[in-house]
Amino acid sequence: MWGKGILNGMRITMRNMLRGPITLKYPYERAELPERARWSVAAKYDAEGKPKCTACMACVRACPDHILDLEFTTREDKTKHIEHYSYEVGACMMCGLCVEACPFDAIEMSHDYELACMVPEELTYDLLSDVDAAPIKRARPAAPKATPAEAASPEEGSPATGQEAADE
Ligand code: SF4
Ligand code: SF4
Repeated sequence: MWGKGILNGMRITMRNMLRGPITLKYPYERAELPERARWSVAAKYDAEGKPKCTACMACVRACPDHILDLEFTTREDKTKHIEHYSYEVGACMMCGLCVEACPFDAIEMSHDYELACMVPEELTYDLLSDVDAAPIKRARPAAPKATPAEAASPEEGSPATGQEAADE
């Protein structure tokens, strides 16, 4: 009985000696994170380097920790200017609800996990500041409104589509 136990223990020891290490020599080596790993929230930009955020506030309302704060001004031509879009990474639980709520794919959960800092104030910073918000693009142009004459005589055939109206 004792001999069998010793052999079993030696077998486990030998197996673990031959297995490679699972630790890394951080910071000289870094782990390759899975694609869907979630760390700090980051703003996304379009091909021209402009922020994709439209200042719609959906992410701010979705955050259960209330750590996103977005302030913007609206000009006379209805375009928006983001004064600041702040984020408190020290209180973020990396749930990703803000990213899921964003209808414009304007933020993402980045792979930036080296978040330690010496000054607590650095745990709150602006994702965006003093930039124009992206215009909200509609997927389809609005349907053409019926003229008063068309609206008054609907019995003269079905309403013309936008293309039919253009052909006329
Ligand atoms: S990941 Fe979660 S806690 Fe962090 S900002 Fe987004 S919604 Fe808030
Ligand atoms: S990040 Fe997305 S959800 Fe948040 S304000 Fe900008 S466009 Fe709206």
